[in-house]
Amino acid sequence: QERVTVIGGGLAGTEAAWQIAQAGVPVTLYEMRPVKTSPAHHSEELAELVCSNSFGAMATDRAAGLLHEELRRLGSVIIGTADKHSVPAGGALAVDRGVFSHELTSTLANHPLVDFRREEVTEIPTEGVVVLTTGPLTSPQLTADLQRFTGMEYMSFFDAASPIIVGESINKDIAFLASRYDRGEAAYLNCPMNQEQYLKFYSEICQAEQAELKDFDRETSKFFEGCLPIEELAQRGEDTMRYGPLKPVGLFDARLGDFRAPENQVKRPYAVVQLRQEDKAGQLWNMVGFQTNLRWGEQKRVFRLIPGLENAEFVRMGVMHRNTFINSPELLQPSLQFKNRSTLLAAGQLVGTEGYTAAAAGGWLAGTNAARVALGKSTLTLPETTMMGALFEFISSASPKHFQPMPPNFGIIPQLETKIRGKRERYGKYRDRSLTDLANWQDTLYQSSLAAVN
Ligand code: FAD
Repeated sequence: QERVTVIGGGLAGTEAAWQIAQAGVPVTLYEMRPVKTSPAHHSEELAELVCSNSFGAMATDRAAGLLHEELRRLGSVIIGTADKHSVPAGGALAVDRGVFSHELTSTLANHPLVDFRREEVTEIPTEGVVVLTTGPLTSPQLTADLQRFTGMEYMSFFDAASPIIVGESINKDIAFLASRYDRGEAAYLNCPMNQEQYLKFYSEICQAEQAELKDFDRETSKFFEGCLPIEELAQRGEDTMRYGPLKPVGLFDARLGDFRAPENQVKRPYAVVQLRQEDKAGQLWNMVGFQTNLRWGEQKRVFRLIPGLENAEFVRMGVMHRNTFINSPELLQPSLQFKNRSTLLAAGQLVGTEGYTAAAAGGWLAGTNAARVALGKSTLTLPETTMMGALFEFISSASPKHFQPMPPNFGIIPQLETKIRGKRERYGKYRDRSLTDLANWQDTLYQSSLAAVN
């Protein structure tokens, strides 16, 4: 029986190794801690939660809660252990982190098919089936080898991401579709501001509270002069944003007439915030140039002052932090196999999903598929109507040019056939469809495995 190698015993690697072993395939799991540690980890346990002890909202009509439920139904060891050691957290799935990680460490170490080694891996093994799950702080030597494998341009080391907003929550009576100087198709939604609105926004953004940076983030951020946080741009002067990402030039709102024409000059906005389409279906929009270190609550408060965004629903907040991730749309298939080496798979923060639960989901899929490759079976993808299916479809098919990590959210799920206005009701329908499709998918898989045995 071929042995699979999993590199990195975080959230994704622990789940992957467990799924491989449970499929009857021997697995070697490498974790570098405590021999070598990362700037964020503190313990030597597997699946350490580096910051918060929460896996997000539990309700299944929330994106995180739906993903928990899908993983529960798929037999995830991470979610199973989280359920077992949950602590009260006002509607969130939060855990006693010490007990959680300790139990996972002994569960994996005691599995007869798991060979658990505390060693740093410095090169991607060239032979056999391998799963890479070394996370956002992959050790430098392995990063260098991965960069050699993927090519320089396909790796990122710093996540300077702008907030992403659900298209349906943008007020289209105000925001207009246009590209600067009519170049190409009208690919941006533009939120125009008059002088009064701009000055209010400027004053609020200058006073907004910033998140505290970790030392290693402060170090890395020095290398990104070309990508300043929007609040720092604002602090450089009242007009700096208007000469940067908020410049009001070359944008024509067809509804108001062409303000290139002299008689229409007065209609020209004082500043314009642009939103770029993030996904193929146009359900998600990215605020151009709004990478930020503001606290999440502050981002919501200040960015909702922008005309057209007063009810904006954010699926991802802006961040600026160190994060090693590959350009998955260029490199990966939705099964999490590399396009140019089907025996090499990857999951977790390294492939551009965001958060603990998404890492466990990636670990489930990469582990399941690694075992299937080792057993000579075809690999799997989940229905796109499930949160898991939608997430891996997104990271393998988003625009490679602007690829940024993505958390689970309802904006990436295919829309319902009938429009439902109420958000909670709509998300409840997404949940029902997801769990039905997942059950059918599991049933089909079970039937085909029975047929293969007979
Ligand atoms: P990790 O959990 O980081 O696991 C990767 C593992 O690989 C580590 O154990 C590491 O030691 C090991 N490793 C690395 N290189 C090697 C090597 N060469 N050889 C062997 N082993 C190696 N997400 C949240 O949902 N909530 C939060 O509150 C949160 N806070 C965060 C705070 C910080 C400072 C950082 C950096 C990230 C945070 N994240 C948070 C994101 C978080 O990293 C992921 O959600 C999750 O840990 C990703 O899981 P993973 O398995 O991809 O990576």
